[in-house]
Amino acid sequence: MSLDEFVLIERIARRTHARDDIALGIGDDAALLRPAADQQLAVTADTLNAGVHFPAESAPADIGWKALAVNLSDLAAMGAAPAWCTLSLSLPQAEAAWLDPFADGLFALADASGIAVVGGDTTRGPLSISITAMGQVPAGQALRRDGARVGDDIWISGHPGEAAGALRLWQQGRLDVRHAAADAAHEHLRQRLQRPAPRLELGLALRGLAHAAADVSDGLLADLGHIAARSGVAVVVQADTMPLSPALRAAFGFDAALDCALRGGDDYELCFTAAPERREALGALSSSLALPLTRVGVIAEGRGVRCEGDAGDGRASGYRHFAE
Ligand code: ADP
Ligand code: MG
Repeated sequence: MSLDEFVLIERIARRTHARDDIALGIGDDAALLRPAADQQLAVTADTLNAGVHFPAESAPADIGWKALAVNLSDLAAMGAAPAWCTLSLSLPQAEAAWLDPFADGLFALADASGIAVVGGDTTRGPLSISITAMGQVPAGQALRRDGARVGDDIWISGHPGEAAGALRLWQQGRLDVRHAAADAAHEHLRQRLQRPAPRLELGLALRGLAHAAADVSDGLLADLGHIAARSGVAVVVQADTMPLSPALRAAFGFDAALDCALRGGDDYELCFTAAPERREALGALSSSLALPLTRVGVIAEGRGVRCEGDAGDGRASGYRHFAE
């Protein structure tokens, strides 16, 4: 069934939940929002293009989930609480058979995280989903990239490299991204690529604990490089401390798993720095969130990123869209 543009917008509008800080949502020329007086507005945008940011054959529900997840991950990395978003869709055709499962995936995560869709745009064109997400953080408490201090520990949440592992399996023709894999390790990796979990609770809990933070979208070494550059310090990573997941090692062996963890993108874990005095508090936080938090390096004087004990060539490169 092909949907008229306004029928399509209505199908999205009736699914979003209400928030009492929305004075006017979908339907007018612009939404009217009421940010809280003592909060700063954190605003971020990310676009997912079919074939570039996700395999074109991905299930619509996975695309909907991931389009929002990558934006929520940016809010998490700022320590912001999700509030509102806009949804701009470029669609080759407006089919209910695509839109409804897409909305299922998107709103499953939107409802779980408390973010409301307050507007957007709908056009015909190659499949592309662009979301602008807004969150709130108490003035002065945001987790920025420029706050790392010499002597800080460097931490990573979860198991980096799993999404990159799934992408590699798919590129090698060993993984069908649409359907559950029979192999348990492969299925775990597939979920991490198609349904990344933005670390929102962690981001909120790191307010007042972390000095600097970023989410891992381009690759751990590359994203730590952004913290180093913005903070005017050096990042020293110890490769042998990297928390390599059993699933990643089962699928690839140690060396390739380490390469995925250091250089693979699309994980949406948080990397952050904190004073050594915070180790106990971060250990307790890890337990209460049931989320591994691992120390993988230190902040030193100097510039750039150094990775000690990496069997690879020491490149600190992550994914770059326009790289030759
Ligand atoms: P305008 O012509 O003023 O830009 P539109 O016809 O594009 O208005 O959109 C009508 C209303 O529907 C607006 O409130 C807009 O924010 C909302 N909207 C359009 N597309 C989407 C979408 N994909 N998701 C959510 N809201 C949308
Ligand atoms: Mg419009």
